[in-house]
Parts: sequence; C-alpha cells; structure tokens
Amino acid sequence: MTARDTILVTGGAGFVGSHFARAALDAGSKVVVLDDFSGGSTEVPGAVIVRGDIADRALVGKTLAAHRVTSVVHFAGKIAVNESVRDPAMYFDGNVVRTLALLDVIREHGPGVMLFSSTAAVYGTPERTPIEEHDRLAPINPYGATKLAIEHALAGYGTAYGLRWAALRYFNAAGAHPDGTLRENHEPETHLIPLVIDAALGRRPPLVIFGDDYPTPDGTCIRDYVHVCDLAAAHLAALDRLDGGASLGAINLGASTGMSVKQIIGVAERVLGRPVRHSIGPRREGDPAVLLASNALAARVLGWRPERSSLETILDDAIRSRT
Ligand code: UDP
Repeated sequence: MTARDTILVTGGAGFVGSHFARAALDAGSKVVVLDDFSGGSTEVPGAVIVRGDIADRALVGKTLAAHRVTSVVHFAGKIAVNESVRDPAMYFDGNVVRTLALLDVIREHGPGVMLFSSTAAVYGTPERTPIEEHDRLAPINPYGATKLAIEHALAGYGTAYGLRWAALRYFNAAGAHPDGTLRENHEPETHLIPLVIDAALGRRPPLVIFGDDYPTPDGTCIRDYVHVCDLAAAHLAALDRLDGGASLGAINLGASTGMSVKQIIGVAERVLGRPVRHSIGPRREGDPAVLLASNALAARVLGWRPERSSLETILDDAIRSRT
C-alpha cells in the first residue's frame, strides 16, 4: 500500500485541486473528491465525488473508511487576500477551525499522510528575495495567518501523533491543463491572469491595476506565477517522498521568476494580439510588493522542476481553457 493508492482530495472541485485530481487519476491513483462546491464547480471525470463539508466529522470518517483512503491532500479553503482582510472571521473559521476538525478525524481514522495547500502569503512582506523556507514568517493578511496556523498545527501533530505531512507553499498558481478541459473558475474571479484574459476578450470590464507606486521597476507588484500542472506534479512527488519516511515540512512551489502586473499585461497583449484594457487603481490591502520563490528545496527534496511555468505557456494554456 502506498500513499498514492487512494487519495482523498478536499477542494477537488477547485482550481488547483481539480488539476491535482486529474494528475493523480492519470498516474493511476483512485481519487475521492470531497468538496462543498462553494468555490469551484469542476467535476473531474473518473473521481468519486463526495459533496459535503470538511468539518462534517461523520461524513469524513465514513469516507476515509469506506474508500480505504491512503493519503489526504487538503486544498479546500478560502483563498482571497482582500476578502480575508474584510472578513477575517470567515477565514479563521473556513481555514483553521474546519481544518482542525478534518485533522481530528484523520487522527482517529488515519491515514497518516497528509499534504496541505499553503501559500507564499505566510511570508508577509519578505525581508529578501528569492524567499527561502526558513525566512521570516510574518503574514500581513488573515489569509496568510490562517495558512500559517495550520502549518504550526501540522508540525505539532507530526511530533505528537506521528502524522507525516508536507505544507506546499504555492506562489501564484496559474495556467490550466493543456487539453483545455479544466480551468481556473473562481466565483467571483479575483485572480490576475483570468481577469487579464477576459478583459482582453471584452468579457469583463477593463482590468484595474491595484497600485503602480510599489518599490518595483515599473511600480506594479511582482509575483512568481507557477503553472497549476507543475503544482500537481509536485504533490505527487511529495506523496512519494512521504511514503519513504519522515515529514517534509514546508516547501516553496514557485517558478523562481518574477513578473510584474504590467509585464503580464504586455505578454498577454503579445500572445492574444489585442490590447488589455486597463486603468490604475489604489493598492489592494494586504498585497506585498514582491513575492518570489527560491525553489531550491523543492528541487532537492522532491526532484521537482517547473516545466510549464514560462509566462507564455501559462497564458497559452489559460487562454485555451477560456476560449
Ligand atoms: N491584481 C491587480 N488587479 C486585479 C487582480 C490582481 O492588479 O484585478 C494584482 C494584485 O495586486 C497582485 C497580482 O495582481 O499584485 C496577483 O494577484 P492575484 O489576486 O492573482 O494573486 P495573489 O498574489 O493575491 O495570490
């Protein structure tokens, strides 16, 4: 029995979760998706779908036992930085309280292997870039704080209860499966790349750039965009590593390439051959100027290298999934 035999994927109807579910199915795992379908609506063909709440202890316990689940990959959660600033109660409940309920059931029923979707937002405003995993953890918004709280819980549960875990700190997940069947599909959509594409295609109002007075070369925020299929591959590698032994702790998943909002608009205009209508607005609360990963640890521990994370490929795949 290996961690990859039967995987419970919480949030498997969401953007990263559905891409992981697809990759795991393609690699031969049985996949059980647990999702309340509140934030995404993708049903990956071939996955068993369980509609429900990660905090429904009876449902989770029954699901783990009925399917003889061998690992849990936990994507379900709230993901919008600005919403977390406005409504921290919802974020602490959705991301912390409910995840602790899930962890209780896992403690009781197994399995002993878990991957957690964490985020670059745990670093807050980084002291230096590229960011390494042991750099200061000081979230500047409730979203990042909730993810860090669970990382701390996992460390304690690993030591005390023998849970083998990894927290994968995503930088900016983007792109889509190259076959065009899965897409980034948040409701409401707040992420830059789908908004840029839809603004260019005239499907949404012009993009508002959230601030052009940051201390970056063109004044707009720099992020590290990583293809969602590269993220999915890293999760499979992490499950394999956890089979062999100890917890992996926190690992950055980014392409280690920084792109500003204006640079993305420029590449999108080139790839699409049409203008991305936009205006400059005020800064968004909770946004650090630069987030850029060192992915050296992921390379060393997981043998992971991003393969589809050039911005052109990310945009090509995202555009194909939206047209
Ligand atoms: N952004 C923007 N306008 C938008 C959405 C996002 O200028 O309508 C910027 C945002 O300030 C950040 C970057 O694009 O610097 C990426 O934001 P996104 O919400 O996609 O991801 P996050 O960095 O919050 O995880």
